[in-house]
Parts: sequence; structure tokens; C-alpha cells
Amino acid sequence: MNVGEIQELGPIGCYARRWAVQGRGCNPYTVTIKKNLIKGEPPYDVFGCSCPDWAKHYPRQDCKHIMKIKLEVLAPTQPAPTIMTLTLCAILGRFDGDRQKAVVYCAGMAMDYPSLREEYTAYALILMEGL
Ligand SMILES: [Zn+2]
Repeated sequence: MNVGEIQELGPIGCYARRWAVQGRGCNPYTVTIKKNLIKGEPPYDVFGCSCPDWAKHYPRQDCKHIMKIKLEVLAPTQPAPTIMTLTLCAILGRFDGDRQKAVVYCAGMAMDYPSLREEYTAYALILMEGL
């Protein structure tokens, strides 16, 4: 797999959906959505990832792989303003509301994932101006 590539994996066990997300390392990380909670509203709180960044935070915070899945795979099925607002809140929450750090993070994401450059550039601009 190439850096930034997403590959849908089949459901297994309690996971309804799984994706392999290739970062800069050798092996891709696996993003999952649990099966029993996928009905109804968007399952934003039942995501998981195999990366260390996701595992080290409790309460859980979206890592960049989960954000990538939300934006590239799931976002088209959600109303745009909702996903935009949720993503911005998630990014801000990740840095305890520190806008400057959030902007730096968005800039990093735009560099790491060229396919998401426009989205993250937009997020950075909104964060700089205020939600
Ligand atoms: Zn991750």
C-alpha cells in the first residue's frame, strides 16, 4: 500500500467495518467501527485504531487515521456542516482547545495526506479565525 492509501477490510467478530490505513511506517494501521453500536446516529464514539496515538489517550480521541476514514470514506454520506463542525470540535478537543496547536496539527495533516490538503487547510483557516 502507498502512504495515505485506504483499503476496506471485511467485517470480523464485533467489528462491522474495518479499514487498513497506510501511514509512513511499514505496516498499515487498522481503523474499526464496532458492530453493535453502528445503528442510528453516526458512530463517532465507537471508532478504534491500532496505532499507538489512539491507544495512549483515555478518554479516547480520534487519531489521524480515524479522522482520515471519517473524512474520506464516511463524510460523503453525512451532511457537510455536521462533519465539518464535528471534526473541528474533535481537533480542538484533542488539544484542550488550544487553537495554535490545532492549527499546527491541521498543517501537519495537510502535509502527511495530500488528498486531504484542501480539507485540512480549510480547517486551519477556520481555527485561526474562530469557529
Ligand atoms: Zn490511528
